[in-house]
Amino acid sequence: MKGFTTRAIHGGMPGPEAHGALRTPVYDTVAYEHEDARSLQLAFEGRKPAHVYSRITNPTVQDLEQKLRLLSGGMAVLAVSSGMAAISNTVLALAEAGANIVTSRHLFGNTISLFEKTLAPWGLEVRYVDMTDPDAVEQAIDANTRALYLESITNPQLEVADCALVAEIGTGRNVPLVVDNTLMTPYLFATAGAGVAVELLSSTKYISGGATSLGGIIIDNGTFDWHHAPRLAEGARRTGPMAFIGGLRQEVYRDTGACLAPHNAYLQSLGLETMGLRIDRSCANAMRIARYLAEHPAVRSVHYPGLPDSPFHDTARRQFGGRFGGILTFDLEDRSSCFSLMDRLRVIRRATNINDNKTLILHPHSTIFAEYTDGEKKAMDIRPTMLRLSAGIEDHDDILEDLEEALKTA
Ligand SMILES: *Cc1c(COP(=O)(O)O)cnc(C)c1O
Repeated sequence: MKGFTTRAIHGGMPGPEAHGALRTPVYDTVAYEHEDARSLQLAFEGRKPAHVYSRITNPTVQDLEQKLRLLSGGMAVLAVSSGMAAISNTVLALAEAGANIVTSRHLFGNTISLFEKTLAPWGLEVRYVDMTDPDAVEQAIDANTRALYLESITNPQLEVADCALVAEIGTGRNVPLVVDNTLMTPYLFATAGAGVAVELLSSTKYISGGATSLGGIIIDNGTFDWHHAPRLAEGARRTGPMAFIGGLRQEVYRDTGACLAPHNAYLQSLGLETMGLRIDRSCANAMRIARYLAEHPAVRSVHYPGLPDSPFHDTARRQFGGRFGGILTFDLEDRSSCFSLMDRLRVIRRATNINDNKTLILHPHSTIFAEYTDGEKKAMDIRPTMLRLSAGIEDHDDILEDLEEALKTA
């Protein structure tokens, strides 16, 4: 099975399902009975692959994990309750008080908040650099750096760093590169090939099949030797390459209770089956919308890595094989023209989510980033004149007509 969609449809846990069900059912159970005390002991010790409690493993969740392992080419996968759980669990597993991570100010808003407001008081130092500048990344690394962290396309600045280059810098200094690949997914960007150590996904987005449920994914690509990670070195001596995912499952993930609900795992397995088709359509729609807006006199500028005038176009084209994702931003005259455009739309919906089946629009400056000062927003390149649009999978003529009508009077 070579094709992505073939694997998405037929992959998953091997072997017959108990009742021969063609689709892995929702195992809405917490506990699992074992035939004897010894079996339970072996399962607890991780010496027998069996379920003991659904906060640690669950058959429906495991099916989703196996599907994603097959699709990403990763070595091991852990499904969690949300994209933020994937990010927080990963940083909690890799870093400790007094350690630092090197990242960019161009990050998903809640990720910045996690680093600055939640984890910094526990002693995490966050070093912000321009991840598209290899020298700056190199200089920020020291003996206490536990991870380099970036987004494959930053949301909403739509900046694209050369992941292979950053991964190489990390490998040279024994620091793993963690990439939030939510906007591209393994369908558009195989991070293992770029030397990325850990890939994170908010499966709430493209994977869920149309904003059906929250979920997150942590993928260990198997490219990093965990003996070099101070928090995991001891585990690496015991369990080898499974030190990161195994360590999460036996500690941070288990202890934070970041488990994915079986029903959400079921919805997301279903979503994965059609993900390739939906991404094709969403990327094609985004490209059409970007080109349309770029020509429109009321639009000051359009930001989309698929447009040849984007400073990230060449890197994106090389890295993502000719597709550029479903998100674009554009600038109007001022904030009030942004608001009035939003209020006139009839097909495009006003909501904070991305990679939904529906095309969505949002004014990031007054919403996701509202908690930051104007100065902070400026540093994050969040402009009051900017709208973010996430292209859905509707018929493109309907979206373009909606924009045309709304821009006429904007
Ligand atoms: C949405 C999003 C997240 C957070 O995911 P949730 O599932 O909402 O917790 C993280 N990173 C990126 C890039 C996102 O778009």
